Amino acid sequence: MISLEAAQERILAAIEPLPAEEIHVRDALGLYLAAPIHSPVDLPPADNSAVDGYAMRAADVASATTEHPISLRLSGQTQAGSLSAGCVEAGACARIFTGAMLPRGADAVVMQEDVQCAPAQPAEVIISEVVKPLENVRLRGEDIRENALLAGAGEELTAQRLSLLAGAGIAVVQAGRRPMAGLLATGDELCEAGRALPPGMIYESNRIGLSALAREAGAIPKIYPLVADDLVLTKQALQTAFQECDVVVTSGGVSVGEMDWVKQAFAEIGGQLDFWTVAIKPGKPFAFGRRGGKLLFGLPGNPVSALVTFFLLARPALLRLQGARELRPPASWGTLAGPLGYRGERRHFVLVVLDAGGQVKSAGSQASHNLSSMGRANGLVDMPLGARWPAGTRVAVLRWN
Ligand code: AMP
Ligand code: MG
Repeated sequence: MISLEAAQERILAAIEPLPAEEIHVRDALGLYLAAPIHSPVDLPPADNSAVDGYAMRAADVASATTEHPISLRLSGQTQAGSLSAGCVEAGACARIFTGAMLPRGADAVVMQEDVQCAPAQPAEVIISEVVKPLENVRLRGEDIRENALLAGAGEELTAQRLSLLAGAGIAVVQAGRRPMAGLLATGDELCEAGRALPPGMIYESNRIGLSALAREAGAIPKIYPLVADDLVLTKQALQTAFQECDVVVTSGGVSVGEMDWVKQAFAEIGGQLDFWTVAIKPGKPFAFGRRGGKLLFGLPGNPVSALVTFFLLARPALLRLQGARELRPPASWGTLAGPLGYRGERRHFVLVVLDAGGQVKSAGSQASHNLSSMGRANGLVDMPLGARWPAGTRVAVLRWN
C-alpha cells in the first residue's frame, strides 16, 4: 500500500502531455496553452481618449478658474475607429469620443460634463478648471507592451484570458488536446438506469458520475456497455477501450474477490500494472497501469470510492495529458460548523458541504457505498489519521464541483 502522494507522483511520472493542436480562440475555452504567448502589439495601440469630451493642450488652460474661464476654438472632431482630425493648435480644441485616437498637438481631454458651450458661439468651448497633462488620456502600450507575456504555457484558457488574447489580435493558439477517457463498469449485479430493476441487481451509477468528473477535468468521456464479471469479457472490453481511448477507467472488480477480473484481464492483454492499493479512505483498492503509452485507472466499485479516487488520482493525470500546469483541485477555506472526527485506520477524505457563507458541515454518513452523502457533498476535507477537530476549526475544502 502506498501513500496518496506517492501514488500521484508515480502516475504523473508516467505521463507526457498529448501533442498540442492549433485551435481558434472561439473554440478554446477550458483548454491549456502548450506554449507561452507574447503580445504582437502595444495595447492600446495608440494614445486615445478615456471619455467623451474635448481634446486640448493642457498648457492652454493652466490658468483657468471659474472667475477667469478660458475659451478655446473648436477646430475639429474625432471619433472611435477613425483617424484623428489633424492637429490641435494652441488655443484650440477638438471634439473627441471615448476610444478615439488623440489628435496630434493635444495632450489632455476634458470631460464634456466639465465644459460650457454657449449656444450663440457654437465654435467656442469654455473651460473653467485646470486640466492636467494626460488627464483622461490612455497612453499607447500602458496596458500591455508589445512582446510582453500574455499567458504562460500550461495556463488555462478561461473566458477572461481568451478575451485578453483576442484583444491582442490573437485568433489561433496552440493548446493541449483533450484526452479520450473510456469508462467501463464491471459487475454482474449492475443494471442500466432507466430500466426495471431485476431482483438482486443495483443500478449502475459510476460511469455517469465519472464521465461528469472526466468532462470537468477537460477529457472527452466515452461510456462503454456494462461488463459482466468474466475474464474473457473483461479482456475484450478493455481491448476495445484501449484501442479507442487515451485513458481507460474501470470501476469495480479490482479488489481481492474471486469475481475481480480487472487486474488479470489487464495483464493478459499486455498491460503493466504499476501499483495497487493506496492508503486512503474511501478507496483503498485502486490500480494504476500502463499499456503502450495509454493509462489504466482501475477504481474500486463502491460509488464514493470510485469518484473520490478518480478525483484525487485520475483528474491530475487527465490535466497533465492536456499540458495543464496546475494539477491540484481548487481549494477554499471554511469553518467547521460542528466537530469533525473519524476513527479509522487510514487517512480519510471526508465528504462535506461548504456553504456560501464559508461554513463546512459533514455531508452525512461517510460509508463508501452510500450515495446520499455524496449526492449532497460539494467538497472533500483531507483528515489525517486520528484527527478530531472541534467546531470552529478552519479547514481547507477541496472543491469538486
Ligand atoms: P467491487 O469493487 O466490484 O467489489 O464492488 C464493490 C461494491 O460496489 C459492490 O457493492 C458493487 O455492487 C458496487 N458497485 C460496483 N460497481 C458499481 C457501479 N458501477 N455502480 C454502482 N455500484 C457499483
Ligand atoms: Mg464487482
